[in-house]
Amino acid sequence: MKRKLRMGMVGGGKDAFIGAVHRIAAFMDGKIELVCGAFSINPEISRQSAAELFVAPDRVYADYEEMITKEAQLPEGERMDFLTVVTPNFLHFAPAKMALENGFDVVIEKPMTVTLEEAKELKAVVEKTGRTLCLTHTYSGYPMVKQAKAMVKEGHLGKIRKIVVEYPQGWLSRLSEREGNAGAAWRADPKKSGLSLVMGDIGTHAAHLAEYVSGLKITELCADLSTLVEGRVLDDDGSVLLRFDNGAKGVLMASQISAGEENAVRIRIYGEKGGLEWANEDPNNLIVKMLDQPRQLYRTGNAYNAPYTLSSFATHNTRIPAGHPEGLLEAFANIYRNFAATASAKREGREPSPEELDFPTVDDGVRGMAFVQNVVASNASNEKWTKFEM
Ligand code: NAD
Repeated sequence: MKRKLRMGMVGGGKDAFIGAVHRIAAFMDGKIELVCGAFSINPEISRQSAAELFVAPDRVYADYEEMITKEAQLPEGERMDFLTVVTPNFLHFAPAKMALENGFDVVIEKPMTVTLEEAKELKAVVEKTGRTLCLTHTYSGYPMVKQAKAMVKEGHLGKIRKIVVEYPQGWLSRLSEREGNAGAAWRADPKKSGLSLVMGDIGTHAAHLAEYVSGLKITELCADLSTLVEGRVLDDDGSVLLRFDNGAKGVLMASQISAGEENAVRIRIYGEKGGLEWANEDPNNLIVKMLDQPRQLYRTGNAYNAPYTLSSFATHNTRIPAGHPEGLLEAFANIYRNFAATASAKREGREPSPEELDFPTVDDGVRGMAFVQNVVASNASNEKWTKFEM
């Protein structure tokens, strides 16, 4: 593209958490600019947020419907190119669908929708319109996660046998939804959050990470969900046994009552010849454990000699020389950069490279919603194994 891509936002005002992270990520490479938004449920907060972000007052809209309708009427050289959806879960589907149908690409937060039906409908709209939808499963943006994926794909570990993925948080150890925490309040409300609190909010990240790194698909599961904080309506803790399509077995733990934990995402994958371990709290490290060999530590940004050379997917998503820490903001920016490169390539009639196409899509969103629905069904069932229905 000979110009920046123009971004609109629904949600992400001064009253929000993740919207600001999206902006940092989107702006990091200088290829995206924010031109419009309906930034908050509260019009005054939306207006203030826009002013602080230097968004022109006539591009601040009352709601997403007005924004999409009016932006679609602007000349091509002015209107937004894509909409970022950073509202609570129940407000993902409608703005995303409307944006796609009006010719805009979409960046959308997880869980993609609140039901599997909505997710499938969104996939049908993406296919019909030919537009690009990017789902922000943050952890798949890290260079060392991409290195892990490449090593599994290249057969470094042999056939994969076991996957252990964990996402413990402690921030819902108290009844925060009744103590004025707005983010906790909508997450704990089934109408706004979906069928499951813990699995929608963070279980989808863990399930995506397991499938992304291994390249395998979950085929069956056995789930145990709990509500461990008295007075809470939805679940806040869950353990799931997994079976994958190559015969591998897995364990997924997602918990928001793991008191004292921050965002302790961790994945371990074991094959016939060795294993890999990656953790969000030490994201520039990939620990490689091969049978009968000393443990190895791969680090982001190094120009190792063969056979330790980092994959093109890891290096494409690395920004600074080894030893300077990269973290969540850069991982998030990698997702935006790959999305923006793909969206631009499509506009120019060019084929995106495999590295540019490496970001979560509507298909991952459908699998995420199927994961939530199947976990909830399994928890309610007396049968040991629930088939992963789509
Ligand atoms: P939040 O409660 O902090 O912010 C929600 C924002 O949406 C607020 O600005 C609110 O005013 C706005 N909003 C609500 N209704 C609106 C409407 N009708 N029109 C316009 N704006 C409206 O929530 P959050 O923590 O930022 O989460 C938002 C989404 O991001 C959720 O789906 C969540 O699951 C997801 N999320 C993802 C990650 C990640 O790692 N990828 C991290 C945090 C949150």
